[in-house]
Amino acid sequence: MLIVQKYGGTSVGSIDRMMNVARRCLASQREGNDVAVVVSAMSGETNRLLKLVAEIHDDPNDREVDVIVSTGEQISVGLVALAIRKLGGKARSFLGHQVKIQTDSAFARARIVSIDAEPVKACFAAGEIAVIAGFQGVDERGNITTLGRGGSDTTGVAIAAALGADVCEIYTDVDGVYTTDPNIVPSARKIERISYEEMLELASLGAKVLQIRSVELGMKFGVPIHVRSSFSDATGTWVVPEEREMEKVVVSGVTVARDEAKITVEDLPDSPGIAARLFAPLSDGGVVVDMIIQNSSTDGSTDMTFTVPSGDRKRACEILKREVADLVGKDGERIIFDDEICKVSVVGVGMRSHAGVAKRMFTLLAAEGINIQLISTSEIKISCVVAKKYSELALRALHDGFALDRPPSERASL
Ligand code: ADP
Ligand code: ASP
Ligand code: MG
Repeated sequence: MLIVQKYGGTSVGSIDRMMNVARRCLASQREGNDVAVVVSAMSGETNRLLKLVAEIHDDPNDREVDVIVSTGEQISVGLVALAIRKLGGKARSFLGHQVKIQTDSAFARARIVSIDAEPVKACFAAGEIAVIAGFQGVDERGNITTLGRGGSDTTGVAIAAALGADVCEIYTDVDGVYTTDPNIVPSARKIERISYEEMLELASLGAKVLQIRSVELGMKFGVPIHVRSSFSDATGTWVVPEEREMEKVVVSGVTVARDEAKITVEDLPDSPGIAARLFAPLSDGGVVVDMIIQNSSTDGSTDMTFTVPSGDRKRACEILKREVADLVGKDGERIIFDDEICKVSVVGVGMRSHAGVAKRMFTLLAAEGINIQLISTSEIKISCVVAKKYSELALRALHDGFALDRPPSERASL
């Protein structure tokens, strides 16, 4: 078999842990597999580098920032390759540009366009383990780029797709994907199998165990993803195409996203073209707007409320003041913002065929006295924006209220 193993920051957090990674890679190779390993920076390193940058510079989407933050992975690949050699194995390290992980030029959030798998195949032919730096790539002009926080997951799955690997194993500090973050809700349960589609929703709604783009690539190229612990041999969670059994489970998981902010523009004229004028400059400025709610009109005017990533909130307000001052006021007098929000969501493919999930979610939040500020739904998820101070309370209330602390077979139908 051809196996890609990706190890996250905690799993390569010390020399001891790197030796553990080396042992695992070699064990897999001894079983007769070709092994490519993708590694993250040592835990805390990317944050440390970003903090250094922040001391002198406040635009994260800058060419030089990627030059700096990509270095964490360079150290890890060298050390892991040496660890494998120390244990008697053969290994070669690769930076992003050395396996031509070609990306677009969106610094700090680049997307992979193509990968040259040949150097990795040459490694296998020589009996070596290929140790590849996660998170980094190179654009067509040769600039170093990075793939966004958690981007090594995406490198792992992309390498697996490029090599036609049988599986991409994601080794992390929890032993699988849980019904919610087990570090916040101890009663969370490990999910054995989950569909790409559900995992995509969980990842995009706050479950950082897999980067969203890695799940997208897994789904697109049919790469089975196995999320598991680097500290044990237990089977983790398989992320795979949807299976019929999965629909029986109405709600599979609950998430919270704390990195969003809410903006309201008051007193907008209720006439055609206003929404287009408001959101076009945000889109041109690369601000991704998530939920949008337009209030009903009174006296021909209306309010528009929307959410943006919290890191973009300041910039979003500035863009609006600059580009549509006639709508928001010269000094932004008609803009109100709130950074103290979070978004809690319930996700499950079973929602397609079961009614009543929304009612239950609203009832559970109400029972805790939590006010819902915004609601949005899709076929397989419901999200509510609530005050940030309630994030953990809401998560626990929804998790246990939907009986996710019990095995799927014991969860009473709604
Ligand atoms: P790594 O450094 O290995 O990439 P991350 O910190 O990026 O690890 O992701 C693992 C973390 O994701 C866990 O420690 C856990 O706190 C968090 N997490 C959030 N939601 C979930 C979930 N539903 N299941 C498992 N882990 C989750
Ligand atoms: N080191 C990068 C980060 O901390 C990428 C990763 O670990 O996946 O976000
Ligand atoms: Mg991660």
